[in-house]
Amino acid sequence: MKVTCTSCKASEVWELNALITEVRNNGGNTDWHTARYAVKCPHRCAAPIIKLVPIPFGRERAHKQAHRHALINLSLQILREAAARSATEAVGTIEARHPWTSCRLPYRCIVKRLIERGIEVEKTNQP
Ligand SMILES: [Zn+2]
Repeated sequence: MKVTCTSCKASEVWELNALITEVRNNGGNTDWHTARYAVKCPHRCAAPIIKLVPIPFGRERAHKQAHRHALINLSLQILREAAARSATEAVGTIEARHPWTSCRLPYRCIVKRLIERGIEVEKTNQP
């Protein structure tokens, strides 16, 4: 939850359970509309007007998942391209240091294990 004092513009982020405890400790009601009267101004100003705004946890989590998805699939794209080249040229490069003539099998193993762990691998990166 984001606690903002519209009087002095101070704000701080609270974890929901901690905020509920704070409201109760201050003798307040945890009802959504009245809880704000029991929350102190982050800067303890003289005339606080507190506003409580929920931070969408789901959105933050979705953002992290999207970031991980992009990171994994970009890594797989680099590996997949190197594995494809490995049949005809040495790919002892920074992205794939394998001494064998082809890196396709290790690549397939990496993808298989990622999928087994529930990670969404884009179709183009699937072996
Ligand atoms: Zn204030």
